[in-house]
Amino acid sequence: LKKILRLNAVTGKYSFKDESEEWKYLGGRSLISTILTQEVNPWAEPLGDMNKIIISLGIIGGTMAPCSGRLSIGGKSPLTGGIKEANVGGTAGVRMAALGLKAIIVEGDSITNNNQLKIVHICKDKVEFYPANDLAEKCNYEVVKKLREKFGKKSAVIVVGPAGIRRYSNSTIAVTDIDGIPSRHAARGGLGAVLASKGVKAIVLADEKADESEEYYDFTTFKKVSFEWMTKLAKSKSVLQNYGTANLILPMNELGCLITRNFSSGSFEKANEISGEKLRKNCIERGGKLGHPCHPGCPIRCSTVYMDENGNHLTSALEYETIGCVGSNCGIGNLDTIAKIDRFCDEYGLDTMEFGDTIGVVMESGLIEFGDEEGVLGLLEEIKKDTVLGKVLGQGTGVTGKVLGVRRIPVVKNQSLSAYDPRGLKGTGVTYITSPMGADHTAGNVLPGRAGYSQPSIHPHESNDQYKLSREIQELTTVCDVVGLCFFVGATLETVDYLSQLLKAKFGKEFTRQQIIDLGRNTIKQEREFNRKAGINEAYDKLPEFFYKEKLAQYNLVFDIPKEETDKVFA
Ligand code: SF4
Repeated sequence: LKKILRLNAVTGKYSFKDESEEWKYLGGRSLISTILTQEVNPWAEPLGDMNKIIISLGIIGGTMAPCSGRLSIGGKSPLTGGIKEANVGGTAGVRMAALGLKAIIVEGDSITNNNQLKIVHICKDKVEFYPANDLAEKCNYEVVKKLREKFGKKSAVIVVGPAGIRRYSNSTIAVTDIDGIPSRHAARGGLGAVLASKGVKAIVLADEKADESEEYYDFTTFKKVSFEWMTKLAKSKSVLQNYGTANLILPMNELGCLITRNFSSGSFEKANEISGEKLRKNCIERGGKLGHPCHPGCPIRCSTVYMDENGNHLTSALEYETIGCVGSNCGIGNLDTIAKIDRFCDEYGLDTMEFGDTIGVVMESGLIEFGDEEGVLGLLEEIKKDTVLGKVLGQGTGVTGKVLGVRRIPVVKNQSLSAYDPRGLKGTGVTYITSPMGADHTAGNVLPGRAGYSQPSIHPHESNDQYKLSREIQELTTVCDVVGLCFFVGATLETVDYLSQLLKAKFGKEFTRQQIIDLGRNTIKQEREFNRKAGINEAYDKLPEFFYKEKLAQYNLVFDIPKEETDKVFA
């Protein structure tokens, strides 16, 4: 059995306990929703004493299964007011597994200790706490550099940037990647502010191994199936290795789904300038990297390392969603400017999707013009100085839109939409509406050609049965979040079948297809119940009104799936 570490940085108390038999088949998103349901009152203040941060590996997290180093981080969100699980890559998952940990539960309230901040150093059998007030306003790259010097270059670091320390609702928890750079983020929902409210600036996972080794019912089979699946994924996902997730820019633009100028269009005249092809060209010419894994054991390698014009490192993991939200959505057709904003967000610990949409509503208000790159750099200064405007921006798209009197605010449950226009990608629109997480493509992205477990794929402009397809893809995606695999392995029946073999080889227990799908289905059900008790009911399951009324010019599309249908998704 793996261990559950419970710690309180304010009091300096901690305990290691074996996971219970009941928790053995829970992991990642399902363990988070179970702990929150059992231990956190749904009406708890997100930044108060009663909330908790849970960092969890999946059921087979940190094993040799492909992409199993992902971590789920969760708590009650200060952005949505509901339950939140944010999924992140990087090396922390692998380190946690080596330390024999299944989950870390962070409790406490920094207010009781005058907001003192700590560094938490986790070793295989002890936890050390170090004062960190001097690092409070330091940015993520600098803090990580210092911590790796002190604790060793093979340590993994989980860190909160200035945005979280200042309790911005748009604040992330960053995790170091295989280069030791804090480029991977549990980005959505403002969890950085929650971890900071527990008095934690950073958690360092030591490069140590637990005394007990990982137990397997049939190690030979586990290894064989993992190797076979890895080989298959490495071959079938070459587009991600060659162009990163930015490979989607041109196809989404063609489909009218690439968010442009605060969702006023679905295609961008400078799409070529911010495309995967352009990113690839810049990476090759400037000595960047393509086909980069965010953690060891990923055969898909979708990540990128992006250099500036002089060949110096600018940012890592420049993703489709960042390019869409910060780029086309703000009328910015310059990959270098987008990369600079991405680096700024990585340094301060801001979700690039929320931030890009926030700037979009600022532009819509007329405070700066669409495409005004200098204007955006000026807004970054406001955040750096933590001015009143900077604080407003840090509260995210919903608050900023309201403060500036904007009517077209692209949020669901107060969380901003990612870079897929729901009028052009209707299944993803259903996911934005119905996911307990708020508008979140990672909860179930219904890209063209994707099928569910019983529902065939549907053209993304069609309306019929999209609600069924979204439900099935949300359930399959949640399965990935529960077992601890990156969803790029595929939210598909093929994944379910591989998991059935792996779970049998790991635990000696048979899992039918339905039982595996139920791992996802039951988690979503539990999350929705938490939200309902927190006051977030079906009335919140809707897109902003303009998506139902304003046509996307290129294809004359509105979001026309009736509420009666979206209400059926998880009824
Ligand atoms: S596919 Fe991409 S995001 Fe997923 S684990 Fe691999 S590098 Fe990380």
